[in-house]
Amino acid sequence: MKIERAIVAITGAGGGIGAAMASRLAKNGARLALIDFQPDSLERLKAELALAEADCRSYCCDVSNEAQVDQVFAEIRQQFEGMDVLVNNAGITRDALMLKFKDGERQSRMSLEAWNAVISVNLTGVFLCGRAAAEQMIIAGTGGLIVNISSISAAGNMGQSNYSAAKAGVAALAVTWAKEFSRHGIRVNVVSPGFIGTEMVRAMKPEALAKLQAMIPAGRIGEPDEIAHTIQYLIENDFVNGRNIEIDGGMRL
Ligand code: NAP
Repeated sequence: MKIERAIVAITGAGGGIGAAMASRLAKNGARLALIDFQPDSLERLKAELALAEADCRSYCCDVSNEAQVDQVFAEIRQQFEGMDVLVNNAGITRDALMLKFKDGERQSRMSLEAWNAVISVNLTGVFLCGRAAAEQMIIAGTGGLIVNISSISAAGNMGQSNYSAAKAGVAALAVTWAKEFSRHGIRVNVVSPGFIGTEMVRAMKPEALAKLQAMIPAGRIGEPDEIAHTIQYLIENDFVNGRNIEIDGGMRL
């Protein structure tokens, strides 16, 4: 698929990696539907991108809310008259050990609230947005591309039962959808980032950051644009389908 004039919807576009995707794809001539929870980050990003309104629109939406997702995707279809690519990027963390014990006494456990919050946004949100986008692409008969953002944590990571389960789930969804939607010309892939230098990671204490970097074979954390570059590759290479691309500097959990 050519990026120039392609209509690309990005969820969580106001965050570190989403904004990097928007920026790289805008430079390559894509038209952007930017979706996020809060209007402020979207408005800042739109101002930075400085594209014409018809080529860059922002949409406030909680990706875990079915009615909001269906409404926003209908608006995108109406305003852009189509959708070529969806990047399911919105995500949150609510880390906690499953069970924390000291001297035989339970100190804490992962709350059902923390479990539900992460599953709702990171797994159900991907299901809802993927379903809405695929339906539009099928009706339009134009084919398209869906990319789910997973994580190296999908392999299982201490303190991330909720996040790891959701990220493994979105990887499985992508393979399932690649099988279901290939007859409609829709490709579906997964990108699994390792540690990427978004604000949260950069705000770590220098000692903790140095320790983390020492665990990464590449000797450094990744840049948000290195994930964006992978999205560009997936858009441009029509033969990649149903695959999980790990961008992690060689790190394994
Ligand atoms: P981020 O900076 O926190 O950005 C995530 C964006 O998603 C934020 O703008 C956030 O809005 C938005 N969001 C949260 N809940 C939402 C909801 N219910 N509906 C719509 N938007 C919502 O995170 P990031 O580091 O760029 O991560 C982007 C993706 O990469 C996530 O899926 C993450 O799990 C994945 N990932 C990141 C790393 C990393 O090292 N950074 C590594 C592996 C995977 P608010 O700010 O308003 O909450």
